[in-house]
Amino acid sequence: MNVFDKYHLPTTVNEALALLAQYKGRARIVAGGTDLLVDTQAEYHHGQRPHFDALIDVTKIEGANEIRERDGFIEIGCGVTHTQIVNSPLIQERATALAEASFVVGGPQVRNVATLCGNVAHALPAADGTVALMALDAQVRVSSYQLSVVSEQWLPLAEIFNGPGKSAVDSTREMIRAIRFRPCGEFEASAFARVMRPQGVALPILGMAPRVKIENRKSKFEIREIAISAGPVAPIPFRAKQTEEFLRGKIFDADVLKQAAQILLQEASPRTSAHRATKEYRVALLPMLLEQTLGIAIERAQITNDQ
Ligand SMILES: Cc1cc2nc3c(=O)[nH]c(=O)nc-3n(C[C@H](O)[C@H](O)[C@H](O)COP(=O)(O)OP(=O)(O)OC[C@H]3O[C@@H](n4cnc5c(N)ncnc54)[C@H](O)[C@@H]3O)c2cc1C
Repeated sequence: MNVFDKYHLPTTVNEALALLAQYKGRARIVAGGTDLLVDTQAEYHHGQRPHFDALIDVTKIEGANEIRERDGFIEIGCGVTHTQIVNSPLIQERATALAEASFVVGGPQVRNVATLCGNVAHALPAADGTVALMALDAQVRVSSYQLSVVSEQWLPLAEIFNGPGKSAVDSTREMIRAIRFRPCGEFEASAFARVMRPQGVALPILGMAPRVKIENRKSKFEIREIAISAGPVAPIPFRAKQTEEFLRGKIFDADVLKQAAQILLQEASPRTSAHRATKEYRVALLPMLLEQTLGIAIERAQITNDQ
């Protein structure tokens, strides 16, 4: 069967989930298709048949293309592309790490169709959008269909990853309807940076995103709240909990940064990947990226302080 004979464009979540149910696990959610169709094509070239008979495109669902503020959160619908995120003043100002992460995903053609929710659903520990969202303590709205009724719940982002490329959200039966996180407030900011091969348009060698809230103590800055995510340094998207714990309550200076880098090296476990980098190279990059991104986040948090 040619899968493109069965390409559905539902306009409601209910319709999308009813279609998935109708195909009994033989249909799959698609958004930009920049992961799914590339993977499917690669499998096809290796002689494998597509593992679905139909695609359910969620980008035309009402409200799916919106970025909005609701209940104290910034909410991003399942059709929102990386280009929309990059161009959003709200995200640039209040979730800078995410704007920076989306800005480096692929090239413009990819960013114009690829969605943030697709980046998360693909469940890779190196995915740029996911690395930024982990630092923002994001949640995902998972919609499923039971006995013809849609049920929805917000889950912490960190809970939906089961392994590299393995999501707890079964895209043949349920969908991520939206992603949300709290915007950075006063004295608070985030940053994202990655190291990448110069000619690269795929996943990075290493990415990192801190979010920090500071307090000014006689022109020195105490770290009040901190979140640091990095990838790929573990089989699933990673939060550097021990490094965060060490930094919380500390006055930020060169010595503290050096100690934090040592803790980060102990808790992160990067590995060698065939096409991207050795473990040793990634280990060498970790302290460098921590210094760069945390320094930028703290500088930004000071600017919000001055306003
Ligand atoms: C040339 C190229 C360069 C790339 N560069 C980068 C890069 O630099 N950084 C990076 O992180 N990624 C990169 N990617 C990967 C990809 O573009 C991103 O991961 C993108 O965000 C995926 O979104 P999508 O909408 O295209 O997902 P799709 O391909 O449509 O879907 C991906 C997976 O998620 C599922 N899915 C999609 N949406 C939902 C939903 N709402 N609910 C449940 N399941 C869903 C699908 O079933 C599929 O399993 C690149 C890809 C290409 C082709």
